[in-house]
Amino acid sequence: MTNFAFADHPVANTLALTCEAANLVRVSSVDDARRASEAAGNQGIPLLVLGDGSNLVLPPRLNAMVLQVADESIEIVEEGAHDVLLRVGAGKNWHELVETCLKRGWFGLENLALIPGRVGAAPVQNIGAYGRELDAFVVAVHGYDCADDAERSLDAEACEFAYRESIFKNHLRDRFVILAVDFRLSKSPQLHCEYPALRARMDSGAYPETPEGVFRAVVDQRRQRLPDPARQPNVGSFFKNPLVDAELATELQERYSDLPCFPQSDARVKLSAAWLIDRCGLRGESLGGAMVSEQHALVLENRANATQADVLALAKRIKECVLDTFSVELQEEPRIL
Ligand SMILES: Cc1cc2nc3c(=O)[nH]c(=O)nc-3n(C[C@H](O)[C@H](O)[C@H](O)COP(=O)(O)OP(=O)(O)OC[C@H]3O[C@@H](n4cnc5c(N)ncnc54)[C@H](O)[C@@H]3O)c2cc1C
Repeated sequence: MTNFAFADHPVANTLALTCEAANLVRVSSVDDARRASEAAGNQGIPLLVLGDGSNLVLPPRLNAMVLQVADESIEIVEEGAHDVLLRVGAGKNWHELVETCLKRGWFGLENLALIPGRVGAAPVQNIGAYGRELDAFVVAVHGYDCADDAERSLDAEACEFAYRESIFKNHLRDRFVILAVDFRLSKSPQLHCEYPALRARMDSGAYPETPEGVFRAVVDQRRQRLPDPARQPNVGSFFKNPLVDAELATELQERYSDLPCFPQSDARVKLSAAWLIDRCGLRGESLGGAMVSEQHALVLENRANATQADVLALAKRIKECVLDTFSVELQEEPRIL
């Protein structure tokens, strides 16, 4: 049921930036989304679909119709001997979905445990962690296209998934309200433990080589490595791992023998943004209320009532330093509004 709130409304976000929206609406259906889109049009303000704000750097005020999806349902669309096809409401908490699937014996999502946010946001940046990305499981994304005033379903290919990318971040940004996502999960364990930090944990002997073991290892690794947004407000990785051409990677490796390099299938090489920032000596660097996390160089924290301007100024300083030192351009991962 659409519930229009015409007073300023605080917008929750894990970086704990103070932000008020002109309007905020909770929707569950195509009809709700259509009504919200019409209301935004009538008021001459843009529509902005948000989840938990764990990948956003928000301004103090959003003169927009902020829309959040309320549907948290999980429906079995198809069940066979080997796999299951689920339709999950975009409002479902991501980690709760991972936990539920594991309990029900639907495997695959374990490596993506404890990523903050809602199911509806997961396809937007094709969430990924510990060697797995969402696109391995997505069959279709369903929603409402405000620009065409049409209900639409996109199959995985149409979503144009890539590393932290999709069509929802590009062509369909701010016009497509994701209402539900279909996932195909296996009924037999599918372990993917090649990612070095995960492999090291599994090899410690503390975790069984089972989906539950991988889930626990990922949760423990994340709790140890990443600052908890509830205590140190942050948006996770602030920069994408840069993809550079092989020539530059070789040149850098000659200068820095410990530079982590991950060759990609397209002949480019992925570098570790955290390593580059760390090597610039920026861990603990602060500007206004924003600080480069002491725990993880890729994370920017709100330490003391930081503003969006503080966070962006610190990000700019980091980008300049990495560019000057390594000739590598970093790109922000969260959306700057
Ligand atoms: C501590 C921490 C760790 C993190 N670790 C990871 C990680 O390991 N891997 C990773 O990939 N990300 C990670 N993130 C980033 C973040 O959790 C993900 O991007 C998540 O999917 C964002 O979900 P959200 O509901 O908070 O979306 P929001 O931040 O509210 O929105 C993100 C984007 O999605 C759009 N959007 C949201 N919902 C919808 C919808 N229903 N329809 C259309 N568009 C929508 C918004 O417009 C916005 O552009 C981390 C963040 C934190 C704070």
